[in-house]
Amino acid sequence: MVYLDHSATTPLDPEVLQAMMPYLTEEFGNASSVYGLGQRARQAIDQARDEVAAFYGVVAKEVIFTSGGTEGDNFAFRGIAERNADRGRHVITSTIEHDAVLRSADALERDGFDVTRLPVDRFGLVDPQTLRKALRVDTILVSIMHANNEVGTVEPIRELVAVTREHSQAYFHTDAVQSTGKIPARVDELGVDLLSMSAHKLHGPKGVGCLIVRSGVRLEPQLHGGGHERNRRAGTENVAGIVGLAKAIGIASRDLAKNTAHLTALRDRLIKGVLERIPGSELTGHPQQRLPHHASFLFAGVEGESLLLQLDMEGIAASSGSACTSGSLEASHVILALGFPRERALGSLRLSVGKGNTDADIGLVLDRLPKMVARLRAMAPSAA
Ligand SMILES: *Cc1c(COP(=O)(O)O)cnc(C)c1O
Repeated sequence: MVYLDHSATTPLDPEVLQAMMPYLTEEFGNASSVYGLGQRARQAIDQARDEVAAFYGVVAKEVIFTSGGTEGDNFAFRGIAERNADRGRHVITSTIEHDAVLRSADALERDGFDVTRLPVDRFGLVDPQTLRKALRVDTILVSIMHANNEVGTVEPIRELVAVTREHSQAYFHTDAVQSTGKIPARVDELGVDLLSMSAHKLHGPKGVGCLIVRSGVRLEPQLHGGGHERNRRAGTENVAGIVGLAKAIGIASRDLAKNTAHLTALRDRLIKGVLERIPGSELTGHPQQRLPHHASFLFAGVEGESLLLQLDMEGIAASSGSACTSGSLEASHVILALGFPRERALGSLRLSVGKGNTDADIGLVLDRLPKMVARLRAMAPSAA
């Protein structure tokens, strides 16, 4: 199998599994217990927290471990809104966010908050001047993703933060699930107040992530129970998951230069090859300001979903932004937000490479994909 869907999830790194193994077996203690077994679990969590904090350029107490990106995004929205409603009830986000952010914004709207969803340009960029105009005295939260999962565009977070600081009191949250481990994502350098991430997008385990919350940020806990995570997120810690998360971050950070060179070379060959060999194809997202492992396209006259099935028959795993809901094909909200009409948007395909991919994998795709597109077009002569 040729796995080209690393923006959906990644295989667990064997080094990460090795680091987790003791905590899935004999080191099973509850980190709140006083005896040695419990205290060793506590030490493992403390060490992981220090490593994650160092990676993001924050201090240990600013790291809250969560169950992943979805929880981090929900926590940021709910936690900020509930605790800061006395200062205002206006939230700003963008039209190309992950559903975890978009649906969190919808939920706040149902509770009487005002939500502004900023448009993006045809490359998926949020313009800082557009944000500036949307900021109000009652804006309490701005949430713009660091990098987009469907089109790979990297947002100008530092500029967006600067504009937010200059014109409002609002906290700034960024969803860094796609960017962490792929491009520098230090919280101190980006200047954000909150950042969410997830381990399984960088060769860590599923079901664990963290929300970074800078000191002084007023955030209402969402899970009530014991005093875990400094009373901010109750629940017995996922010790093995947390250890795995820190290990995955450590490896990504250690190998960043090597991985970036490898991924970028594969991605660029893929993009160049697809655009050259397939007429009626175009790149989506920003040509330069994009994730190093991310290639996304639109093919005229073809449905991305049909391409996925063809690719699957050849053992190639990829994704399209469209979703099949109740029998009809729904175009990706991200591609639509870039300004493409629905028919065009349905022809989207995302190929996201990983450190385990080889030149031969790319060669296979570049050999098969043009034939598949041609075959599908021949089967649907009425399509544009
Ligand atoms: C995958 C993803 C999420 C969700 O993270 P989970 O850990 O799978 O819940 C959120 N945001 C972005 C941008 C993602 O790619």
